[in-house]
Amino acid sequence: MANISLNKALLARLLRYTQIYTTSDASSQTVPSTPQQWDLLHLLKEEMQALGLSDISLDDKGYLFATLPATIDKPVPVLGLLAHVDTAPAFNGKNVKPQVIERYDGNDILLAGSGDKLSAKVFPSLNKLIGHTLVTTDGTSLLGADDKSGIAIILSVVEYLLAHPEIPHGKIRIGFTPDEEIGRGAKHFDVAKFGADVAYTLDGGPVGELQYETFNADEATVTLYGRSVHPGYAKDTMINAWTRACEYQHLLPPHLTPPTSEARQGFIFLRNMEGSTDECRIHYALRSFERTEIENYQKMLFETMEKMQQKYGEQCGKVEIKEHYRNMGEVLVHYLYLIDIAKQVMEAQGITPNIDPIRGGTDGARLSFMGLPTPNLFTGGENFHGPFEFISVDTMNQSANVVINIAQQFTTYPFHSGESL
Ligand SMILES: [Zn+2]
Repeated sequence: MANISLNKALLARLLRYTQIYTTSDASSQTVPSTPQQWDLLHLLKEEMQALGLSDISLDDKGYLFATLPATIDKPVPVLGLLAHVDTAPAFNGKNVKPQVIERYDGNDILLAGSGDKLSAKVFPSLNKLIGHTLVTTDGTSLLGADDKSGIAIILSVVEYLLAHPEIPHGKIRIGFTPDEEIGRGAKHFDVAKFGADVAYTLDGGPVGELQYETFNADEATVTLYGRSVHPGYAKDTMINAWTRACEYQHLLPPHLTPPTSEARQGFIFLRNMEGSTDECRIHYALRSFERTEIENYQKMLFETMEKMQQKYGEQCGKVEIKEHYRNMGEVLVHYLYLIDIAKQVMEAQGITPNIDPIRGGTDGARLSFMGLPTPNLFTGGENFHGPFEFISVDTMNQSANVVINIAQQFTTYPFHSGESL
């Protein structure tokens, strides 16, 4: 199994891409949500052309696809490799000034722009990275290793495979997408045009991450109606919708909340309340790994409204629930070879796979239900979406080796007849 060093290429690409401003914006209705994402997409298109990839296409929605042709004739599943170009709107993504720390020695790292320190006392996972080359922010922005590390890994792998046609692999499709951080990355993804049988997103965290389960997610809006009158003359006439909303919330079980759940437990998250005396809306996020459990949460919201209605009348309020996304494990259980191959490859490289479910969603979750089964692989980044984001270039290199070896394993894996390719 190949174990090569692409550190130089990975670092150069990471530095180049992270300095390009690509923050997405949930309040925008355009696609991509921000024009600056085009800057990176156009650069990547040029780089792909220079590398000599084929079938390069960049559509008007900001989806950039290309093909690395097979080096063998044997039919194997077409493998997709995906990463996103945008960075999270949660923190400043402009004027990113990455700092490179060669052979990290375990001491605090000064973030020169803010004067803050990146310390192993606060972030103990740094202790595992002593001796590595790290890239950090200067404290005034996020880094955007999420997910520019994924792009750097994919293109460095592609460059290596193009230079080594003796390495056997099937057809590989590359996809770079906009607006992942605002939950729209899969929205305009043309699965048929992409034309891969299966894919991996390179969008995970510390070494070993191999994720194929996400939450089931619903968004609920509970509306309580009131009657607005001048508060000075409201005796026996005003009905305060806010008070009704508080009463509704207090009827829900207190143990099913984000701060009281972990691991495989789900929750009902009171996300936001808005409105007036007249009409108040409570927004809840329902999350669970099990379909039956999230259905129970839905039932709980409706039954709580029935209790309110028994007390205050039929017209006192209503519950509306929208499905957001579903646990991709339901799809990927039919493509377990994707997990099997990734695990084998990691173990052969001395990496312990970590298959803990994601307590959130990924583009892969939506893509899996759209017909492109897509688990997620580690890239090495940590503390995403803030000024303490950092990444190990050595871990990126491990990730690149995992990808190269997965591509090779696809040519020898004993696919069972009838197994979904
Ligand atoms: Zn990401």
